[in-house]
Amino acid sequence: RPSKDKYRICRDDVTVGRILGEGFFGEVHVGVYKSPTGERIQVAIKTCKDCSADVKEKFLSEAGLMKNLDHPHIVRLIGVSEVDPVWIIMELYELGELGQYLVEQQYVLSGATLIVYCLQICKALAYLEGLNMVHRDIAVRNVLVASHECVKLGDFGLSRYIDEQEYYKASISRLPIKWMAPESINFRRFTTASDVWMFGVCVWEVFSMAQQPFFWLENGQVISQLETGARLPKPQLCPPTIYSLLSRCWAYEPQARPSFSQLVCSLRCTLTQIEICCFS
Ligand code: ATP
Repeated sequence: RPSKDKYRICRDDVTVGRILGEGFFGEVHVGVYKSPTGERIQVAIKTCKDCSADVKEKFLSEAGLMKNLDHPHIVRLIGVSEVDPVWIIMELYELGELGQYLVEQQYVLSGATLIVYCLQICKALAYLEGLNMVHRDIAVRNVLVASHECVKLGDFGLSRYIDEQEYYKASISRLPIKWMAPESINFRRFTTASDVWMFGVCVWEVFSMAQQPFFWLENGQVISQLETGARLPKPQLCPPTIYSLLSRCWAYEPQARPSFSQLVCSLRCTLTQIEICCFS
């Protein structure tokens, strides 16, 4: 099939099931998709309540970006049904959001598994770094659990391509302040380096079993705290080597932060050391 049609899905090939949750644009349902090869695939169907042209365009922009992504740790787009009411169809990850999974499985998850999750998210972000794409909403609520050993970064609703040396200036106000870098809070400046800051906050969430970062502060108090040099404290379960990486992700100057490819190497190294300690 021509590549432009690769993601076009006919509504008749989709059976809609129960509601999974509420998305920004409308309900998300479980479903089954019958692929052209006859395979039955479990899917998540995102719907859009408001079918006006401009809302529909915003809704479909996430799918537009996802068509260009192919990575083992990024949520996989299966297709789009563009006839009203529009649907975005994705692979289903039945174990749900990582945030909730961490709470439910906190007594089961080993330290090594938590590092594996962070490494997988980091690999997904290193892939986006290579494409000059900024995600802008990295948090455990936006990571889905495919299996006990595999997580997938999702929610590309705020993602944008940026030109090299450039940045994306956000206009909207629905921004996750407690996850954001100082330059994003102050100047709405979003770059791969601000994604690195957010990734650091997401790793903090993983080792805190999904506590809210800065739950002890109001949104309005966060920036003044960051400017005095205060940072999120080391979660009890976080190995010191990982916390020192987080401190580097939270350097005030964006250019002083490590890249995602450097972070992949460091996390791999830490994981190897922990495995050697546990199994020797
Ligand atoms: P927001 O921007 O407010 O987060 P959204 O429009 O991006 O909303 P999601 O958060 O992605 O919507 O989805 C709403 C719910 O559906 C969430 O509980 C999410 O965990 C679930 N969900 C979304 N996609 C999938 C999927 N592929 N597999 C399993 N669950 C999913």
